[in-house]
Amino acid sequence: MIEMRSIHKTYKRKNITTEALKEINLQVEEGDIFGVIGYSGAGKSTLVRLVNYLERPTGGKVIVDGQELDKMSDSKLRAMKKQIGMIFQHFNLLESKTIFDNVAIPLILSKKPKAEIKKRVMELLEFIGLSDKAKSYPKELSGGQKQRVGIARALASNPKILLCDEATSALDPQTTQSILQLLKRVNQEYNITVMIITHEMSVIQEVCNRVAVMEAGEIIEQGSVLDVFGHP
Ligand code: ADP
Ligand code: ADP
Repeated sequence: MIEMRSIHKTYKRKNITTEALKEINLQVEEGDIFGVIGYSGAGKSTLVRLVNYLERPTGGKVIVDGQELDKMSDSKLRAMKKQIGMIFQHFNLLESKTIFDNVAIPLILSKKPKAEIKKRVMELLEFIGLSDKAKSYPKELSGGQKQRVGIARALASNPKILLCDEATSALDPQTTQSILQLLKRVNQEYNITVMIITHEMSVIQEVCNRVAVMEAGEIIEQGSVLDVFGHP
């Protein structure tokens, strides 16, 4: 579903050059809950941003759902981006919009009919267990609830892939558990391939089937969670 071949990424800022990724080879299969773990600065965020083309590689190929991103026309790339949802550490909700509107944003942007938007948003709010919060604003929700809304918004345009960048890092352990269980349901009930970036081993062991371990821009190990980390 996601493949990286010989990926290199170098950032150049004025006269400072950072080699964020060096020779990354990665394979995420359809249906995986794939974890990427490593310390801060290892290159995890850069790696995940290559998948939805927020960053372009300096060298190598990123292939998503059988198509090489660099070779796609702009219109195909826009369509591909809709196949990829993303959630963030700090949720990135719009504070001035209701929960309903936050979830509806991707659908409004792609000009779906109003009735369809309403149906889809209410379905998603039910899925995340927050149907009663449609008219609330983000500031009225707990961190865990906000992340649930982030997940619903990411699912709105029916993606095949959900990217999670430190999505539980701002949450307490119990709330983290409930979000991870929700991600498991996203994977199973919606058949979505999930990629989870984290610095926490417990997150990987809780939900991932496969993992890549990153250190200083390289993947130092990759395989099933059991093979890489052994039995819990
Ligand atoms: P992680 O997510 O594992 O913390 P990042 O991918 O954010 O790692 O960062 C990898 C390296 O690339 C770090 O040295 C970081 O400072 C650098 N880096 C990340 N983004 C940028 C950027 N936009 N411009 C310059 N350097 C960056
Ligand atoms: P927090 O712990 O930060 O309040 P959670 O993400 O654990 O947030 O849960 C948010 C709210 O959604 C809670 O009030 C919980 O009772 C409710 N909730 C969680 N899962 C479900 C579910 N599957 N169906 C209905 N409601 C749920």
